[in-house]
Amino acid sequence: MIRTRFTTIASVALTLVMLISMQPAVQAQTAATARASVQTASGVQSPAEFLGYELGERFTFHHRMVAYFEHVAANSDYIALEHYGTSTEGRPLMVVYISAPENLNRLEDIRVNNLRRTGLAEGDPDPADQTAILWMSYNIHGNEAASIEGSMQTVYELANPANRDTKPWLENTLVIMDPSLNPDGTERYAVWFNQVVGRHFDPHPLSREHREPSPNGRLNHYHFDMNRDWAWQTQRESQLRNAIYQRWLPHVHADFHEMGGYRYFFAPAANPFHTSITDWQKEFQTTIGENHARHFDAVNHLYYTGEVFDLFYPSYGDTWPTFQGAIGMTYEQGGSWGAGLAVTTPEDHLHTLEHRLGNQHRVGMSTVEVVSRNHDRVAAEFQRYFDTSRNDPQTTYKTYILRHDGNRDNLRAMLELLEAQQVQFGTAPARRNLRAFNYQTGATEAISTTGEDIIVSMYQPKSVLANVLLEPRTTVVDSLTYDITAWSLPYVYGVTAFATTERLNPEGDADAVLNTAPQQAVTDPVYAYIFPWQSFEDARFLARLHREEFRVRLTSEPMQVGASDVPRGSIVITRHNNDHIDGFDDAVQALSAEYGRTPIATGTGLNPASIDVSSESVAFARAPRVVMFTGEDVSGMNMGEVWHFFDWQLEYPITLVDMDRVGQLNFFDFDVMVLPAGRYNSLLTGTTGDRVSDWLSRGGRLIVLENVITQIGSLRGVDVPEAKSPDEEEVDAMDDRLRVFGDRRREGMSSSLAGGIFRTHIDVTHPLGFGMPETYFSLKRRTDAFEYLNRGWNVGHIPADGFTSGFVGYKVKPVVEESLNFGVINVGRGQVILMVDNPLFRGFWYSGRLLFSNAVLQNM
Ligand SMILES: [Zn+2]
Repeated sequence: MIRTRFTTIASVALTLVMLISMQPAVQAQTAATARASVQTASGVQSPAEFLGYELGERFTFHHRMVAYFEHVAANSDYIALEHYGTSTEGRPLMVVYISAPENLNRLEDIRVNNLRRTGLAEGDPDPADQTAILWMSYNIHGNEAASIEGSMQTVYELANPANRDTKPWLENTLVIMDPSLNPDGTERYAVWFNQVVGRHFDPHPLSREHREPSPNGRLNHYHFDMNRDWAWQTQRESQLRNAIYQRWLPHVHADFHEMGGYRYFFAPAANPFHTSITDWQKEFQTTIGENHARHFDAVNHLYYTGEVFDLFYPSYGDTWPTFQGAIGMTYEQGGSWGAGLAVTTPEDHLHTLEHRLGNQHRVGMSTVEVVSRNHDRVAAEFQRYFDTSRNDPQTTYKTYILRHDGNRDNLRAMLELLEAQQVQFGTAPARRNLRAFNYQTGATEAISTTGEDIIVSMYQPKSVLANVLLEPRTTVVDSLTYDITAWSLPYVYGVTAFATTERLNPEGDADAVLNTAPQQAVTDPVYAYIFPWQSFEDARFLARLHREEFRVRLTSEPMQVGASDVPRGSIVITRHNNDHIDGFDDAVQALSAEYGRTPIATGTGLNPASIDVSSESVAFARAPRVVMFTGEDVSGMNMGEVWHFFDWQLEYPITLVDMDRVGQLNFFDFDVMVLPAGRYNSLLTGTTGDRVSDWLSRGGRLIVLENVITQIGSLRGVDVPEAKSPDEEEVDAMDDRLRVFGDRRREGMSSSLAGGIFRTHIDVTHPLGFGMPETYFSLKRRTDAFEYLNRGWNVGHIPADGFTSGFVGYKVKPVVEESLNFGVINVGRGQVILMVDNPLFRGFWYSGRLLFSNAVLQNM
C-alpha cells in the first residue's frame, strides 16, 4: 500500500511544506511509485505472539510498541504508518491510518476532500465521499499506561483478517491512531515499573511498585503536562502533533487517559461547557456514551458519565479538537493512582492491568463502531460546522483588532501561534471608525483603525477556535471547572487589542506590517551599537550575546542617541572591550539580523540631550551563572517550567543541582539562584542559610517563586511580606455556618481561584520592570496574597480594581486586590526577587518571559 510513502515522511520540515503547499500531482506520483515497490504480505501476529507475553502481564517498552505497530503496518493492507517526528529524548512519534485498502489507496483524496469541507483547501468537497475520520490518541500521560497496552489490541483487531466485525466499519471510516503522544513519559514509567516489580506483582497498595517517584511518567521530558499544552504548543511533541493534526482535522477525537479510582469514565462530559459547543457535538457525545454503556453492561464493568471533566479550558485533548469541529472526548480508566499490574481496591477486589487495558480496547472498538454507523451524519455535521463558521459565526465579537504600538515582537509571536492552528488574519482597512472593547481599559469606546492594525475576522473556517483563544472574557456556564478559566491571548502576549461586533474584512498580507525594516548598511566607524530593550526577543538576543562572549553594557537610565529614544535596560555594545571579537562590526550585524533586531549605530559616545553612551549608568553586565535546585522537595512541574524556559525559550545555560548536594556547593560559583515552588528548609536555615545570606550580601541574586516567599525569613536582612487575609468584618458578613451540605462543592468555590487574570501595575523604572508595559496582565492561580513590602521595591502590585478575567471566588477577590505581585528586597549588594505569580506557568504566558528575563539578566 502507500505505507512506504508515509514512512519516508519523517521530517517536520517536509510535513510543514506539505501543509503549506499541497501538490496533489507530485504526491500521487510518489504514492504510485511506492505502491509498486511494496509487496502485500499476510500474517499479522497478535500482540502476544509478537511481544512474547500476554498484554497485561507486564508494561511494554516504547520501542517494542513501535515495533509492533510497524509489524502490523507491514503485514496488513488495512494499515499505513507515518512517523511524524521524534520526542525530546529522540523516540519516534507516529500515527497509523486504519481503513479499508481502497480507502488507503486514496488517502490523499480523503484528506484534501476533508479540508475542502472546512474551507481550508481550495475547491468544493465531493458529496459522494462521506468517509468519517476518527482520531484516537493514547498515553499523553505516560504513566496512564493501560491505554498504550489496549491500543495494541485495538490495532490488531482492526487489522486481523479473522475479525469480520471490524471490516465493514473500515469501509466508511478512517481511523487515525497515535498510540503514544508522550514517548518519554511512557518509557520513564515502563522502565521504572519493570525495575521495581518482583517475579510476581504485589497488590498491596503501599508496596513500592504503586509509589512512582518524581518525576513521574505523566509528564514529558521537561515535566510538562502535555494535556494542558494542546493549544499553547510550548512543547516539541505538541508542535509536531499539531502539524499533522492540522493536515487532517478529524471529525471525532478520543483521548485515552487513566484517573483515580477503578471505574471507567466516558462521554458525555460535564459542565462547564464552553458556550461555543454545538448541539450536535453534545448530541453525538451522548450517542457515543450510550454505545459504550451497552458494551460495559454486557460485561458488568463499572462506569459513569457526565459528572467530571469539563469542556472549557481550550488546551485539553477534548476541548481543543472540539473547538475545531470535532466531537472531542476524554476517556478515563480508573488506575492512574499507581495501580501497576494489579492492586487491591478498598472493596478487596483485585484491579488488574488486564482489566484496565481490556476496557481501553473495549471503548476504542465501540468508538470505531458508533462512528462508522453514523459516518454520513458525522461527515455532514462536520461540514455544517465549518459552513456556519465561515458564513454565520455565532460569536459575540465579529472582528478582533491587534495593534503593535511600535514593538512587533509580541504581536508576531502571538500570530505565529494562531497561524500554526490555521487561523487566518490580515491587515485592517485604514481609518474605520467603530466602537470596540478595549482589552487594556476594559471599556467599550470609539476607536479608529489604521492600516498597520492586524485583524482576525470571525468569518473564517477556524473562527470558533480563534474566538475561544481571543475573547476577552470566557463565558462560564457553571463555575465548577477543572482548570484555569482565563487565557485570552492579548493578555497572554501583552498585545494591545480591541474586539468589535462589526465585521471587517482583512485587506492585505500581515507580513508587510510584521516585518521590521531591513538592516541599514553601516559605513562610518561605529563607537557603539545600541539595541532597545522592549521585548522577550531582546532578552533572547542578549542571552545570545552572552553566549558568544560579547562584553555588553545595559543602561539603567533612558538615553537620547541622535534621533532615537533609548529606553532603560537597553543593550550597549561598545567597540571598546570587544577587541576579542573577530570582525566586530560584521559579527554584531549578523547576529542582529538573525534575531531581527535593528541596532542604533552611533559614531560618538556624546549624547548632548541625555547621559552619554559610556556613563556610569550604562554599566557592564556580566553573563550571569545560574543555578536551580531539584529533588523530591522541589515542585517538579515548576522546576520543569524554569528548565524549559532556559533551554528552549531564552536559550541560556542553567545548572541543575540536587538539593542533596547543597552542602558541597560553593554558592560563589553562581550569580543567580532560582528557587521554584517547593520546600527549602535545608537550604534556607541553619549554617547553609548563613552561607546563602553571605552570598546574598556580597552580590548574589535569589529568585523565589510562589510558596517559597514564606520561607525566606530565616535569611539575614530579609523580611517576609505579611500574608493578607480577608477583613474580619467581611468574614462576619459572609456567615456560612448554616450552609447546606448538598451545596458544599459550590460553596467551596467562594474561596477558590480557578486561574484568573489580574492587572498588575509595573514600576518600569526598576530593572525588574525594564521594557515591560506599565500594565502587565498576570495569571493568578493561587489564593495566597501578601501586603506590600515595607523595606523593598514593590515593582509589581495588583491595584484595587485589578481583576480582569476568569473565575475568582468572592472571598478571594478583595484579598488579591491591593497586594504584592513582584517585589525586590535589597540585601547588601544582592537582591531577593519575589514572584507571587509564576510568570512561566505552563510556559505559555509569553509576556511574563520578559519579566523573568529581567530578573536574571538586568543589572540591579
Ligand atoms: Zn491523563
